[in-house]
Amino acid sequence: MSIWICRACGAHSESRSGPPPKCSICDDERQFVPEGGQEWIARETLASTHSNDWTELEPNLISIGVSPAIGIGQRALLVLSSHGNVLWDCVPVLDRKTRDRILELGGIKAICLSHPHFYTGMVEWSEALGGVPILLPQADLVYVTRTSEHIRPWLGDRYEVLPGITLHRLGGHFEGSCVLEWEAGAEQNGALLVGDTIQVVPAKGWVSFMYSFPNLIPLPAREVRRIASRVADIRFDRIYGAWKEKVISSKARESVARSAERYIRRLES
Ligand SMILES: [Zn+2]
Repeated sequence: MSIWICRACGAHSESRSGPPPKCSICDDERQFVPEGGQEWIARETLASTHSNDWTELEPNLISIGVSPAIGIGQRALLVLSSHGNVLWDCVPVLDRKTRDRILELGGIKAICLSHPHFYTGMVEWSEALGGVPILLPQADLVYVTRTSEHIRPWLGDRYEVLPGITLHRLGGHFEGSCVLEWEAGAEQNGALLVGDTIQVVPAKGWVSFMYSFPNLIPLPAREVRRIASRVADIRFDRIYGAWKEKVISSKARESVARSAERYIRRLES
């Protein structure tokens, strides 16, 4: 079996005979196949040209990216806790140095993901770290491009991963789109790790919500209203998005409420 990585989105695919004909993530209307067509990189090639970066964002929260950037360019976030560590979202590469560093910190208890565009190297990470359970909402299992015995589907809207670390399935961008509540984050005021279930936008203190970001397909007002009402029940002050500049340091709960209201007003005016 060989592993192929989609150059455009970073999804891993397994194949017995050369690269697969297409990437089901890029083929979906929420993504796109680049002008030049579908391209794959062999896992061994990618491992020789790319490595991870490692940045502490606040105590017990580490950002792990890939350098040079590949695919969508998102980061993974490693949450450290006394009950065990949790990986939020994933990237297509895990180099040896980063794997060893994570193992020195006690390894990972669970891999949790915001949505299928960031599933990327989750199976590789799980296997390299000793078979870490990958918690995926049942609704999005259909988007898995590399299957694994370590995938643990879950049902419902809320899942406590570890004490103080909880998945909330908000839907919207994908039916299974999630955020991760980290109660100890932001100096115990709570941090919400959002991927692009809630998208931090360039204007300071604002967010947005989309069905497709690259193809600019909005969500219906009723979906945004529903997401905002779910978020209003979570206690947090800070938001970490999927890229390094995507942070709302404080009063992020108000940011979500205000942004949802603005979005709905635009759709309904
Ligand atoms: Zn792809």
